[in-house]
Amino acid sequence: MRQFVVYTGLITLFTVPALAEAQQGRGPGQGAQRVQIQAGEACPAGMTEVRPRSCQAPTLPAPSILDYRPRSTLVAPAHSVPKAKFPAIDFHGHPTSQLASAEELDALATALDALNVRVIVAANNFSGDRLKDQIARVKASPKMKDRIRFLTGIDFRNVGPGWAEKAVAQLEADVAAGAVGIGEIGKGLGLSAKKADGTRLRIDDPELDPVWEAAARLKLPVFIHTADPQEFWQTIDYTNERWLELALFPGRRYPSEAFPSFEQLMTERDNLLRRHRNTTFVIAHMGWHANDLGRLSRMLESMPNVHTEVGAVLYDIGRQPRAAHDFFVRFQDRILFGKDSFQPEEYPYYWRVFETRDDYFDYYRDYHASWKLYGIDLPDAVLKKVYFANALRITGGLPQEGWPR
Ligand SMILES: [Zn+2]
Repeated sequence: MRQFVVYTGLITLFTVPALAEAQQGRGPGQGAQRVQIQAGEACPAGMTEVRPRSCQAPTLPAPSILDYRPRSTLVAPAHSVPKAKFPAIDFHGHPTSQLASAEELDALATALDALNVRVIVAANNFSGDRLKDQIARVKASPKMKDRIRFLTGIDFRNVGPGWAEKAVAQLEADVAAGAVGIGEIGKGLGLSAKKADGTRLRIDDPELDPVWEAAARLKLPVFIHTADPQEFWQTIDYTNERWLELALFPGRRYPSEAFPSFEQLMTERDNLLRRHRNTTFVIAHMGWHANDLGRLSRMLESMPNVHTEVGAVLYDIGRQPRAAHDFFVRFQDRILFGKDSFQPEEYPYYWRVFETRDDYFDYYRDYHASWKLYGIDLPDAVLKKVYFANALRITGGLPQEGWPR
């Protein structure tokens, strides 16, 4: 429940006693006007609380959030971590152009070596001939043939009578072609996919059940991304943590008249996870609960078939270093490393958060987070599980040999 008290307009305008403040050497601008507010109220727009319940506007024009870039004067230990301490499996990869030619594959190998990422799981949701084609390209690459494995996709169009039989047959064919799991099931399942009869396809629709059961039978992990950060459903005002992102990318807004609510989607996802206890699920992006580790803890506790993955939520992990450290230690067998979009320069931020106890350092994308990150200092045994051992355990089709123990 968010505490947000709207400024009600009960204000008193008065002028700062300039002489008295100036004599103490800490006064505001001469003659600056202050506004008195009641306890629990917020200052009016353009003002900040300079003394208890007393608001004042700056004497210079305030910069926009885009232009305010303060240099930190903090002097503290800083470690750059270009390479992961142990070889990593990126469980949330979307290589596409990197697979286009032998040269691109060679370049990918070089980039992964520099990061100490040994294996990348292609979670492109491809199936059939497209999947076979990509597998063949990788098999032909001496440098990458043991370093990329593929998940297969499920085609959720036209769910209705006869759909499940076809989907399961396609899944079996894709596994025969080399797929090692299912995914990434995209957020379209739940947000936008429609059934053959035109109604919204719910994530927990029973017509999908045979696919999840087949995944259990074939021992395939199901990698699923549901919904998006919860702020994408909220009003875009200046209290929204993702204001900048929503202003940059209007397509990420989910107005209630057009989309199911965040909680509706979470309920459907959790119904799915609970109904298929024998199916191993990996919920992408920490289920969008990295900002509420208590909630994610309860999920992992009550659903032993569920694992989670850390892609694109580093801003939440790194802003709560003590809670995140404890969460990773407690659920060390259930967390997988994944990066999502392939930007080699961004991986070292993950290594630094996971491996160091550095304080107050920049994150790589301002529009995700207006705050700084802190290292969570994971022990080696936990790093190994998160970086590779958990992925190896739940995904039999990954290269199992040659990992440090
Ligand atoms: Zn993804």
